[in-house]
Amino acid sequence: MNLLCKLNLHKWKGCKCIKCSTTRDELHNWEGCRCVNCGKTKEHKYHWKSSTLACKICSEQFSSDESFYKYLIQISDWDANSFGFDKNIEYAINKIKATPYIDRVALEAESINVRKIATCEVNDQKVLSEIVLDDRNNDRYSPLWDAIDRINQIDLLKMIADRHKDNGIKEMVGKRIEDIEDRLRSQEITSIEDQQTLKEMYIDNDNYPKLLKAIIEKITNQNILRELYGIDDKHKKTIIQKIKDDKYLEKIVADYSEDIDIVLFALNQITDQDILMNICLREDLDRQIRRAA
Ligand SMILES: [Zn+2]
Ligand SMILES: [Zn+2]
Ligand SMILES: [Zn+2]
Repeated sequence: MNLLCKLNLHKWKGCKCIKCSTTRDELHNWEGCRCVNCGKTKEHKYHWKSSTLACKICSEQFSSDESFYKYLIQISDWDANSFGFDKNIEYAINKIKATPYIDRVALEAESINVRKIATCEVNDQKVLSEIVLDDRNNDRYSPLWDAIDRINQIDLLKMIADRHKDNGIKEMVGKRIEDIEDRLRSQEITSIEDQQTLKEMYIDNDNYPKLLKAIIEKITNQNILRELYGIDDKHKKTIIQKIKDDKYLEKIVADYSEDIDIVLFALNQITDQDILMNICLREDLDRQIRRAA
């Protein structure tokens, strides 16, 4: 080797020493994204060019999943919001939504808009938690809300509620946990058939309005339904729909203390023509009710 080169005193021509062929990372001779002197390549700058994905620098065209991923992570928020780009983003997301690249786009994309669209395709629960805990996503229009809606694992949600600094978000995550727990409980209810058990659950479960409905749906025992009708003011219509006895419905219709709204609802459930005729002829009842009958 040339002595001067050994002493690091090369004779540079651009990025390459003409004596020993050592290269340096400056003064390359770029042709597109490749240096013709040393062969070094640089990252393509992906963009859309007449309906295909191409490099802004070397014009090479691409269709691989990786190129769509690279396009999506480098696009700026400004580009993502300018006219025509949303469609391209959607197209690119569709191309990779069934691949692991979708998780990386949701986490890595520079544009919050792109991260948001990608988040709506992410199913990996850990990735979704990372999105919620990412400081960049701490904004009203952000992927955070979409991510919370897609998390189904209660332990992960509890971890997030524990770690997140924002109280509004903690609260939101708490609501999500409640929703999931309610859903799990109502799934349990669908497996219970014993009418007496259902009745007891109904009476003890005052604090879960969503569950009460699921329990009523399972009750078919007419005596229990009548009993509950007397106890529960909030679900009268749901109970009425389950009552099959037209004579009992007639009693509700004739009850002066009952809301007219409820009375008309009960009247609507009666199919027995004789009972309807009877109501129609009863002079002690309100005109509106008789006309409706
Ligand atoms: Zn040299
Ligand atoms: Zn070079
Ligand atoms: Zn290129």
